[in-house]
Amino acid sequence: MDLLKKLLLINSPSGTEGDISNFILEETKKFGLETKTDALGNIILHKSGSGEKIMLAAHMDEIGIMVTYIGDNGFVRFAAIGGVAISELMARRVIFKNGTVGVIGTEEGKPEKPSINKMFIDIGASTKEETEALVSIGDTASFYGEPVISKDTVISKALDNRIGCYVLLRTIEKTLSSPRDIYYVFTTQEELGLRGAKTSAFGINPDVAVSIDTTVAGDTPGAKGMSVKMGTGVAIKVMDRSVITHPIIRSELTTTARDNNIPYQLEVLTTGGTDAGAIQLSAAGVKTAGISIPTRYIHSPSEMVSIKDTENAIMLLEKYLS
Ligand code: ZN
Repeated sequence: MDLLKKLLLINSPSGTEGDISNFILEETKKFGLETKTDALGNIILHKSGSGEKIMLAAHMDEIGIMVTYIGDNGFVRFAAIGGVAISELMARRVIFKNGTVGVIGTEEGKPEKPSINKMFIDIGASTKEETEALVSIGDTASFYGEPVISKDTVISKALDNRIGCYVLLRTIEKTLSSPRDIYYVFTTQEELGLRGAKTSAFGINPDVAVSIDTTVAGDTPGAKGMSVKMGTGVAIKVMDRSVITHPIIRSELTTTARDNNIPYQLEVLTTGGTDAGAIQLSAAGVKTAGISIPTRYIHSPSEMVSIKDTENAIMLLEKYLS
């Protein structure tokens, strides 16, 4: 779990993936695969083999905030990068790339529907100059907090989608001797509209693709309309707002799970998309599926996943590609 903890501690909101990218490049050196990065910063590793070209994709960016304006009194105004849960932001800590930590406050007291335009980041400065010595327009920050990894669960910021990166890294190791032709891709800017997936899929032009990401777990008190539960198996995607997965690839995945006694559940997500959507529509079209790790409190500073689901996802990919 040391690897997962390292992945979770890296701060790389969409568009500023340098730190996570460097870590993954270092971590994958030992596999000895042909490796390149493209213009958008996607990392593409290739293991040659026979048959159809298969692309596995996990996005490495995370949601965060970007500085828009620094006021006279040193308070920092900001915009969301990706689908940040605005209602979860109050009094949260954020950390900038240079280690500066701030607390999010608002002009509004305790509103029912908080507005990001009324919020600010307080880094403890009292003048604009003090803040400008540490923070600039366009800087990004991530949620700040130590990951908690217990026997059964993980609680952290950025589990979306470092847990997917973790699954993909472990899958590379387990499929090095697979006879199949596999491209392992760590994509950028997913949270801003599946951007890295679009260019990497165009560059690879795969026959088949599987994206690996998190999905909403609908199993907390009062949750409605989502059948996926945390801890009861890897989710095999049927649909989200970006994609209806390819029926043949989907059924190959469910059959693989059943044949190997890997617990799984079907996922229909009515909010949010994934890299699968961009990959499917690349070039003349790609047969695309998706697997997901059920995640509670998604896009908040305290996302939660099950270790069993994570291990089942790795096992499913290993068996599918063997
Ligand atoms: Zn994601």
